[in-house]
Amino acid sequence: MSTIFSKIIAGEIPCHKVAENESFFAFLDINPVAEGHTLVVPKQEIDYIFDVDDEMLGRMIQFAKTVARAIEKAVPCKRIGLAVIGLEVPHAHIHLIPIQQVSDLSFTKPKLTKTPEELARTAASIRAML
Ligand code: 5GP
Repeated sequence: MSTIFSKIIAGEIPCHKVAENESFFAFLDINPVAEGHTLVVPKQEIDYIFDVDDEMLGRMIQFAKTVARAIEKAVPCKRIGLAVIGLEVPHAHIHLIPIQQVSDLSFTKPKLTKTPEELARTAASIRAML
């Protein structure tokens, strides 16, 4: 069965896309912990990130780096934090999260409530910086 992220990549479920290449896809998290919270996923369905082979994992990090550089230009922040959890969606992904302080990289505090219009504006701002 295809994962929800594969359906997003295939365009079967809408998302606020940030970037894409032949192997990877980046889009805004629907329940962001910070403005600009972006997910980077391989197009290939692999559940656990440490099952991604070394060569692909290297390219995934390089793709995430390009996206992170654009996010940090589009969203006021000190740095882009990177996290891998994967307990909810069984399709490997990297969370890129703009942070001002360590407590911003928290998945236990209440998520932001962003309208689709706000998410669309944020995604457009990030895309403009790529
Ligand atoms: P994890 O698997 O790393 O624990 O969490 C999965 C992440 O994917 C969560 O931050 C959640 O908000 C996000 N997510 C789950 N379903 C969707 C979806 O349909 N669209 C988007 N854009 N994000 C999603």
